[in-house]
Amino acid sequence: MDRVLNGFSERLATAGLAWEKDILFLALDDAVLASDPNHPDREVLEQALLALQPGALACIRPAEPYATILAFFLEQRPQVLAPRDSETRLFLHDLPVASEFSAQALVQGLKNRKGMVLPGPRLAALGPLTPEQAFVTLSSLCFAVFVLFFSDYLEDLRAGRATPEQRAAFARAASFLPPVRTDRPGLVQGPFDGPAQVCAAMAQAGRATVDFGLVDSAFGNVSALLDRTVWISQTGSSLDLLEGDLVACALDGSSCEALTASSELPAHAGIYAAAPATRCILHGHPKFAVTLSLDCDRPDCPDRGQCHLRCPAKRTAGGAIIVPGETGSGACGICHTLPPALRGGNAAIVLGHGLFATGRRDFNEAFAALLGTENACREEYFQRVRDLGG
Ligand SMILES: [Zn+2]
Repeated sequence: MDRVLNGFSERLATAGLAWEKDILFLALDDAVLASDPNHPDREVLEQALLALQPGALACIRPAEPYATILAFFLEQRPQVLAPRDSETRLFLHDLPVASEFSAQALVQGLKNRKGMVLPGPRLAALGPLTPEQAFVTLSSLCFAVFVLFFSDYLEDLRAGRATPEQRAAFARAASFLPPVRTDRPGLVQGPFDGPAQVCAAMAQAGRATVDFGLVDSAFGNVSALLDRTVWISQTGSSLDLLEGDLVACALDGSSCEALTASSELPAHAGIYAAAPATRCILHGHPKFAVTLSLDCDRPDCPDRGQCHLRCPAKRTAGGAIIVPGETGSGACGICHTLPPALRGGNAAIVLGHGLFATGRRDFNEAFAALLGTENACREEYFQRVRDLGG
């Protein structure tokens, strides 16, 4: 188990979310197990673990730019942060903010929530059953606070209420952004000649998406079409570990190898039907595409608050169409909004959620569309900030 806990610490460090010395995972077995037994936060965290009795509890002091972002939020002394990205809406609800780092504050914040913000600045996350759940939540928390900070700044500039402190925090956070990546991974070239090659190409594309930081934790999904069969990642699978986690479903929905296919299967199938030349789809959660999708210049819109379900505006970011919609096949599902958007182009952004990119031949094209759109969104974000005097 110690090795498992250290593995999650390493993955957070590799993703650039925190230095390994600033990460502590605890798990409750017969005894309390720790990824770093000598970590200074251990005693406080262990008390909270014993009080809450989850499978695991983790705490990090995040690296930049998250540290600057969280320090800014903590100074505002809110009781909760309420990011509007879809992952927060679906899985985290909101993020309690504690005024002190103590076992009591951890228990208070985490008894009804999966993750929270504490002075330090720190982020803490529960794994109700497993340490992996705490790992995923920590990644989601970093993603959520990043998108919240950068989208709030744009909104506050637009409304003329950005404060000097906010401007300073923005300049500092922006200075810590990693350089824009313009290189491309060399992925398996299509057309694919059979299921084995399809699966290898999907696993490779998933791994590249995680390596390039185009998803938070390792979520997102990937699919390919071969002989009227959609190969797709399973729900909850890690994009960087897809080998063995791929299932085959008939394009017309008549048969599916497993009930475990990604919950986005209806959207993927709809895209293949609407744009018949499409052979593969890559879905990630790149930060600036999501941030820009939340930037609305219509504060008086009657649908405000329901934007993610039915934003009526025709908007684009980084050259991609922005569509509303939620996961699944319900009335407001992205299976209705994405296929028409991807009929004419090869990238579309789901409001507050992420980016879908397609390729007609192989994942090289889909990956280029995913990365190219995110890079364009990043450039456009800073252009909008400059235009608003930020
Ligand atoms: Zn997604």
